[in-house]
Amino acid sequence: MKNLHAELAQRKQHKLYRSRRVSESAQGPEIMVDGRKLVNFCSNDYLGLANHPAIRKAFISGVEKYGTGSGAAHLVNGHSAAHHALEAELAEFTGYPKALLFSTGYMANLGIAQALCSRGDAIFEDRLNHASLLDAGLLSGARLQRYQHLNAVELEKKLSARDKGEKLVMSDGVFSMDGDAAPINQLATVCQQQDAWLMIDDAHGFGALGENGRGSLEQQNVSTDRVPIYMATLGKALGCAGAFVAGDEDLIEYLIQTARSYIYTTASPPAVAEATRASLKVVAEESWRRKKLQQHIDQFQQGAQQLGLNLLPSATAIQPIVLGDAETALTASQKLLQQGLLITAIRPPTVPEGTARLRITLRADHQTEQIDQLLEALSTVN
Ligand SMILES: *Cc1c(COP(=O)(O)O)cnc(C)c1O
Repeated sequence: MKNLHAELAQRKQHKLYRSRRVSESAQGPEIMVDGRKLVNFCSNDYLGLANHPAIRKAFISGVEKYGTGSGAAHLVNGHSAAHHALEAELAEFTGYPKALLFSTGYMANLGIAQALCSRGDAIFEDRLNHASLLDAGLLSGARLQRYQHLNAVELEKKLSARDKGEKLVMSDGVFSMDGDAAPINQLATVCQQQDAWLMIDDAHGFGALGENGRGSLEQQNVSTDRVPIYMATLGKALGCAGAFVAGDEDLIEYLIQTARSYIYTTASPPAVAEATRASLKVVAEESWRRKKLQQHIDQFQQGAQQLGLNLLPSATAIQPIVLGDAETALTASQKLLQQGLLITAIRPPTVPEGTARLRITLRADHQTEQIDQLLEALSTVN
């Protein structure tokens, strides 16, 4: 048996030990953590919807109507009218024929890969894909091949070298730890030529990007028929929980029949679906939130440039500052915390060795003064 205590001690020694902070308030531009009010620069609640009055209200009336638990899996009797309506609204909003809810994004990714691929097939992934996509590829039993970050040319070579079985390409739309964007049109062209499925995981684009909040496809002007499998999560910009897959009718029916992470799990609470329906309305109607977010991104980038900070090529709310080793990132995060700013240090294996970073995220509801305060603090830790 392995010595767990020794392994944990070793993690501590290498500054890779992770511990959970306890937050005592809702997500917002400020958050109470361990009894202190901090400015929040690390949530994925980009639009400030995790505590929005209309969405809270929908959640509460959802509980009044449906109670707390769904009681069963979707294929037993856990699939409520709330889930059903949300799926129809997500399909309409994204412009796909059908959408299917999953309880989490992690499970959606596992379900897609396992339903479409198994031994003898191949899955191709960007090297910087989210861990859930990498796990999905590994657990499917298909051969997992990784290509250089954003490199559609290398992807094409790998695809054309593979002449048997299904081929599935999976990519983040917006890369979760870097904030940059996949070249979706290029990926789509390559996939069409090579007879491969293309799946885009838009966890960080959906709601936040595009004039109407439809995400990376809208932002990059890609029509939905070029991306047969679109997945996005509902716990980030939408401020709720869960995820969905959008695609054509056959894809969605096939997932219902075969995706084990869809079939063998309890449906999420119907009230969450009711809250998400309200959130989708806010996303569609309150485009000022995306404009505000963009202003904050511009303000941060200009300020960071003046300070000579080394930013990554990200145009999104994810603005990481790569510091190198885990200890440096941890120390910087602790110094910022002393100044009342909450920014988690992201360390390997979440990011590659030597690229530990502060993953700064901006929100629509930050005040410009809070971003000034962040810049000021960054100038002292760097
Ligand atoms: C957060 C995230 C997921 C997982 O979604 P959950 O709903 O949190 O399980 C999947 N893919 C990407 C790119 C993510 O950032």
